[in-house]
Amino acid sequence: MQKTFYVVGNLKMNMLSCDEAGQYLSVLKREMRGREFSFTQGVICPSFLYLSLFDHLPSGLTKGAQNLFPEKSGAYTGEISPVMLKNDGVTHVILGHSERRLYAGETDEDVREKVLAALKYHLVPVVCIGETKEERAREETEEVLLRQVKAVFDGLSKLQAESIMIAYEPRWAIGTDVLPTTSEILQVRVFLRKFLTETFDASVAERVVILYGGSVKSSFLPAISWEAQVDGVLVGRESLFPYELVKMMEMFENEAKKEKTKKRI
Ligand code: PEP
Repeated sequence: MQKTFYVVGNLKMNMLSCDEAGQYLSVLKREMRGREFSFTQGVICPSFLYLSLFDHLPSGLTKGAQNLFPEKSGAYTGEISPVMLKNDGVTHVILGHSERRLYAGETDEDVREKVLAALKYHLVPVVCIGETKEERAREETEEVLLRQVKAVFDGLSKLQAESIMIAYEPRWAIGTDVLPTTSEILQVRVFLRKFLTETFDASVAERVVILYGGSVKSSFLPAISWEAQVDGVLVGRESLFPYELVKMMEMFENEAKKEKTKKRI
């Protein structure tokens, strides 16, 4: 089975007006013109306020959200429901991002509840996990990742588990231009596959999409993506440049085509 690669753009709390978001979108559409993606999917995650502007995206792109509240509706001032997102055409939702863990105090348990709500309403959760600089220095990376994935995956059915995308985002690599090595990312990928195989089975482990995120740029893609055998990337700052985002999609698409040819030989 030919796999799909993902490029998820997290626009965060950027673009200060609808005009600005609209301009970004026009450039994105221009960059996408004439391109076809058979093996790569882009997911663009703007602020909630601009989601409705991101309807009718070119083929190859869908829209995602950056958070949700784990209830369908009700007295939850300032929150947004998974059903609202679904009804607005959102396909994916970033959950447990380190900035939410840090600034909004989200715990592993909160992330689990949000993941369950996303699954219930057929949104694909993009669950961010990753260790801090200090945890890495104490060689606790695997312990931290295990705690974070166990909180999310424990007790799920195989079907639920394989609908989740995991984004390995070491906190020390976000916004810093400091990256893990290819072998460090590969090691995490192997670790996650092992966890999923032991918790579910090899076919679930094969199906769960694993992304890398943290200071991703197109020039780094070979080392942090195909050499590290991940299924795509979660991109912060560089996703503010539509040219870069589309370039990354194209690089993944070319890599997928190469893999396909290799298989045929
Ligand atoms: C992120 O915050 O998810 C991220 C990957 O940011 P950046 O690419 O800017 O490091």
